[in-house]
Order: sequence, then C-alpha cells, then structure tokens
Amino acid sequence: MPEAFGVPGGPPGPPGHSFACAACGAGSGVEQAAWRCACGGPLELAEAAPFSRAAIDDAEPSFWRYARALPPLDPRHRVRLGEAVTPLLALELPAGRAVLKLDYLFPTGSYKDRGLAVLVSWLRSLRIRSVVEDSSGNAGAALAAYTAAAGIECTIYVPASNSPGKLAQAAAYGAELVPIAGDRAAVADAALRAAATRFYASHNRCPMFLAGVATLGFELVEQLGWRAPDHVVVPAGYGSLVLGLHWAFRALVAGGVLGGLPRLHAVQTAAYPALAAAWAGGADEVDARGGGPTLAEGIACRRPLRGRALLRAIRESRGTVTSVGDDETLEALRALVRRGVYVEPTSAVAAAGHARLATDGTIAPTETVVVVLTGSGLKAATTIGDLLAGRRG
Ligand SMILES: [Zn+2]
Repeated sequence: MPEAFGVPGGPPGPPGHSFACAACGAGSGVEQAAWRCACGGPLELAEAAPFSRAAIDDAEPSFWRYARALPPLDPRHRVRLGEAVTPLLALELPAGRAVLKLDYLFPTGSYKDRGLAVLVSWLRSLRIRSVVEDSSGNAGAALAAYTAAAGIECTIYVPASNSPGKLAQAAAYGAELVPIAGDRAAVADAALRAAATRFYASHNRCPMFLAGVATLGFELVEQLGWRAPDHVVVPAGYGSLVLGLHWAFRALVAGGVLGGLPRLHAVQTAAYPALAAAWAGGADEVDARGGGPTLAEGIACRRPLRGRALLRAIRESRGTVTSVGDDETLEALRALVRRGVYVEPTSAVAAAGHARLATDGTIAPTETVVVVLTGSGLKAATTIGDLLAGRRG
C-alpha cells in the first residue's frame, strides 16, 4: 500500500484529508479547528498531492501561487501583508559558490511569514477570534503581525529571561506578551494551559504552518527553471524547513517535475545538537539535548517535536545533519555581511554548514547548492555590530 500520509513510513490515514494523527492515524480536514487529534496525538500534514507546473496560479505574485498544493482554503480568507517571491542570489563564498535564497525578505523579516500567513488565514476561515502561542522570536513576531492584520487577538507566552529587544516587534504589532519564569518547556506548558479556553496557534504543532513553509520548495524549483538543486542547506531547530521542503519536493517528484529529491542538509548549533546527535548515532528518534546560550538563538531547541519525521526525511533525501560552533557561525556571518547580505546569526548557521559540507567534500564544486537565509539582520543589529567588532561572542 502506498504511504498515504505525512512523511515516508508515517501513519496511513484515510484519503482526502489534509491532516493525519501521528498516533492513531485518524484523518482530519481544514474545517476542524484543531491543533492536535482528539486522541491527543500530534497532527501531521498529509502527503502532498502530485504537483506540476499546470497547477500554479500564474496571476498570483506571492507564494499563494502554489495554493493548489496546500490544504484547501477559500482565497477570500487570505491574510496579506505584501509578500513577494523572495530573490535568489548567486554568491562566491569562502567555501565556494552558493545560491542564496533570501527568505528573510518577508514583511516581518523572516521566512516564518510563509507559515504564519497560511496558518492565520486558516484561523480566519474558521472565525477564530483569539489565540495563544509560545515563542521567543521570529515566529512570535510573524504571528503577531498576521493576527493584527486579521483582527485576531493574540497572546504570546515568552521566557522571562528574554531580552526585551527581541520581543519589541511582536509587542509593536499589538500582541500581549506574558513573561514566564523557567525554561522554554515551562513557557510551552503555560501556553498549553491557556489553550483550554483559547485556540493554541502553535507554529510548532499546527500542520498548516508546515504547509506554508512548504511553499519555499515550490518557489525554489520554479525559480531554478523547474530543476532541482543538488543540495539545499537549512538551519534546523524544530526542523520546519526540512519537513516543508521535503513535502514540496515529494509533491514535485510525484508530479513528474523532478526526477528525484535534492539532498537536504540540516545544520544545528553545537549548543543544541539533538538532531545531529541522533543522526550521528543512527537513531530513529531524537532525544533532548543541549542548553545554554548560543548565537543561533532561533534554533535553540532541545528536542524537535517531529524528530522521527525529520530523520526519515533527511535519510530519504540522502542528506546530512551537522552542527556548527558559534565560532563557525560568526565566521560565516562575517562573510555574508561583508558581501552585503545582512542576516541574523541564526541564518549564518546555514552558511557555516555550507562551508563545512563543501570542505569535507559532501558538496562538490560543480554542484548547485541553495543556502536558505531565514532571518533579517535588522532584527539583531546591535548584536551583529558587537560581534563583528569583537565586543561579544
Ligand atoms: Zn489520534
């Protein structure tokens, strides 16, 4: 029987549903306001239908041009802030030539707008008026912006230890921020408790977020002239880029557009190496690992919720998982910024991974490699200035 749902080897589910429970296999659709299955299990994105060039909405200039690949949503509910197709930039980096995908050029300054624009459009279609979320960075800012545009009340639980600067953007959009003492897990627990009375718009749990992130895969392939790159390198904490790209590339293979999957390389920070450790150990599951400060705060995740799916996706693509130290991240950040590409340190993790993979021969000089740059340097201008001046790090 073909694998109908989610990742290869994932739970089978009834056809015609957009989501499937990873625990019991039950299917569900976009008409259900749920961030998890009735059994309590996590919801996964159902396998994408085959996608080909003919399915594109050519009149649509944004990532919504790939809407036919996504769970069905009435276009009238789309929440827009002026998203555009983000540019590709071919650049000679110290380790070799790379095609940079400038996905930080979104309205709120990060690729998370893809996922949260789709997630909030779905919430609007369900007439949800009030949401809670837990986030300390780019996802919170993106959720705050899109809920503001949609007229949805938004409360975000954040670590009390966070610097106020990082939260200023979400607050400016009008989100209520609730600081919680303790670690990241304590913040998530607080959001879960609040979810008893309000919708939990968790970007890490709602599969609609992944569907939005998946548009990156379709967009890349269209921009490259309907060809797959040999490699795609992304930063990975919870791993939404890996899962979203894998989902899109599988749909393009099924649609006959691509002959095979590009190799997906996930790059972690050495301070939070849960996925890299599982990969190195040949495991099927990801255990919690890491902690403490890192330059790559956007991927400071002790344990991704979809660890098993991540490992499967990377294996199927013949990719790799690696982790880089803050020294390598800083070196990569310097190389990017000095060439005019102003990104936040978490984005530089992918470039540091590219350097590593080009040096160890995983990526050959003749191959096409796309490095996804996820967050704008404007979000971390003071930090970047201090780092490059040697005042920090
Ligand atoms: Zn279930």
